[in-house]
Amino acid sequence: MQAIILKVAIAALTVFSASVAGAENETHASAFLQSLFNRARIEAPRIQAAAGQTLIAHPSLLQRWGVISADAAAAYNDWTNTLVLQPEMTITTEREGTRIRTLEEMALSTGTAANVNATTVFHELSHAEWDFFVEEGATSADRALLNEMEQTLRPLLKSSAVPFYNQHLAESEVFAYYREDLIGQILQDASEILLGSGLDPKDLSCVRTRHPGKLRDLMPDPRDYAIRARVDTAWVQGKDIDLTQDQDLHRRLNDALYEHSLETLRFPSSRTALFQILEQDQRVMSALLDCAVQPPI
Ligand SMILES: [Zn+2]
Repeated sequence: MQAIILKVAIAALTVFSASVAGAENETHASAFLQSLFNRARIEAPRIQAAAGQTLIAHPSLLQRWGVISADAAAAYNDWTNTLVLQPEMTITTEREGTRIRTLEEMALSTGTAANVNATTVFHELSHAEWDFFVEEGATSADRALLNEMEQTLRPLLKSSAVPFYNQHLAESEVFAYYREDLIGQILQDASEILLGSGLDPKDLSCVRTRHPGKLRDLMPDPRDYAIRARVDTAWVQGKDIDLTQDQDLHRRLNDALYEHSLETLRFPSSRTALFQILEQDQRVMSALLDCAVQPPI
């Protein structure tokens, strides 16, 4: 009964309504997702679709209801389809209502923590994708992942003594943690390449007086993100689950998550590929040229 009352109470918070933006298929996540594309050519069409069915709320309200713990930076409530995000991760305008901030807007509100906040948001949005697509077995890629999780994650959870009623939750968490790591690696690489080239990632302004005048990568890495992105632990209901206890299962689980990401997201395959994409980016290249001709201070 309490559950029903709460659901109604949250739904009644129309100020946090999801689909307030202008265009028909715009959601509270559209501007954020567009900024991921602009920064690093990351595309997540299914997150866009799932986001349209979710609401945004700020923690203070839900904490009072006891839905999330007071120290959580963000959460997804799959029962009310509500993304609970810190106020600095969202922005409210008269025209758009409350939406997720873009990467650039997060940099203004949270400085260097912007990438961390962006990956946290991506984690929570991934829970929505899990809920609406993966768990439903919407495509053959989803069904393949569920099947592979059954064979790899379930035994790992069992040996970690995760109670049966939390196993379901653990699947969604592992999925979200993997997505968080993958997107985090790509965003971090983009920031490092831009900074190494003398550009501030948040607005492409010049950060040094002497500029190379071209894009450069001080730490090139040709390895595929399939190797670099990893979920090693998952935090489920206050418990840390070590997924590395069986190396073979851990590897198979991560391989399956990567395969699934290839089918459901679009993103550069490696830091080298990302570098080449940035080199083709008109905004980046003209910013570099502008900086190169600026007189030293
Ligand atoms: Zn989570």
